[in-house]
Amino acid sequence: MAGEHLMPTYARQAVGFAQGEGAWLTDTDGKRYLDAIAGIAVCNLGHAHPGVTAAITRQAATLLHTSNVYRIPLQEQAADALCAVSGMEKVFFCNSGAEANEAAIKIARLYGHKRDIAVPTIIVMEGAFHGRTMATLTATGNRKVQAGFEPLVQGFVRAPYNDLEAVRQIAKHNREVVAVLVEPVQGEGGVVIPSDDYLAGLRAICDEHGWLLMLDEIQTGNGRLGTYFAYQQQGVQPDVVTTAKGLGNGVPVGACLARGKAADIFAPGNHGSTFGGNPLACAAALAVIEALQKEGVMARVPALSARIAGGLREHLAGEPGVTEVRNKGMMIGVVLDRPCGVLVARAKDAGLLINVTADKVIRLLPPLVFTDADADLLVAKLSALVREFLAEPVAA
Ligand SMILES: *Cc1c(COP(=O)(O)O)cnc(C)c1O
Repeated sequence: MAGEHLMPTYARQAVGFAQGEGAWLTDTDGKRYLDAIAGIAVCNLGHAHPGVTAAITRQAATLLHTSNVYRIPLQEQAADALCAVSGMEKVFFCNSGAEANEAAIKIARLYGHKRDIAVPTIIVMEGAFHGRTMATLTATGNRKVQAGFEPLVQGFVRAPYNDLEAVRQIAKHNREVVAVLVEPVQGEGGVVIPSDDYLAGLRAICDEHGWLLMLDEIQTGNGRLGTYFAYQQQGVQPDVVTTAKGLGNGVPVGACLARGKAADIFAPGNHGSTFGGNPLACAAALAVIEALQKEGVMARVPALSARIAGGLREHLAGEPGVTEVRNKGMMIGVVLDRPCGVLVARAKDAGLLINVTADKVIRLLPPLVFTDADADLLVAKLSALVREFLAEPVAA
């Protein structure tokens, strides 16, 4: 059987794709699918984006890799571009989201040790997802991700998400806290949207105690919520931001951005990566940052989000099995009253790619290049599938 030499780390859908264009994918049998998941928030500009394709094609024919022991002009340019769009000051490039968070965690620990804190501790949230390496799975607030991998890493304490009072209580009793690591919207956790004052509230608590505010924008960043980063809608500037997913539109690249007291923590020898920020990855990132800004893609996000979420609310009105439709930019969650993982395969059979997370939440992460017609098709197909599913007797 094909794939028998792959470690079974994923319960894969029985489909493979040969080609993509914009919001559409074609499988190896020639069948077309509307992609409402974008490789899990990666292909924000859609598949085979002409600007990104041209940049990486040109770069592949010029220079792929040298080493971080040399200057990398494209990496310097990508850092300039990221700082310009984010208000941050320094960038460390890596290859994935988990690595970006590892860099943030190491910055927090060094920051703590420089302030003579013996066990630098990071506050992380219930329901959080930060990655699959040992430190980031420890930071993740989901026992399923951690089970079997004990001993976990020390130096984390957990608070409920969207609960400022819980963080204030930790501050009262724990003198070792150095940072808060938090997602502006929880993605894997089920498209959980905190109240509008949450990030500003965390910023105030961090300022009061000299902690670093570290935002995991691996999923929320790179235009997905309609601004380059989510915090830019909240009037908040973090000390550290991590991103990856959409940064290369499919080329693996991650980044840890820092400013102020977090900007100059790392010195030579403290951290590194062989591939991180190589010329190919940085050519992709530069093309993505440019395309997101030039083409007004981000400006369309609020209207698209409202069209999809509004359409779903309308089509699913009066369905008692639908608990809630929540949306923030191009992160849309349809919360059902029962586990609904089977919908992923049914949607695929109907030519629609979606995701289910946190058991009961249909998660939509469409590329930002969705047309209005794509949005309407998504609403029509998904609401029909959901209605049909909810009409079935609940399995005992
Ligand atoms: C996907 C994700 C990660 C992990 O990124 P990888 O590239 O898979 O390591 C971390 N944090 C958040 C919020 C994510 O969505």
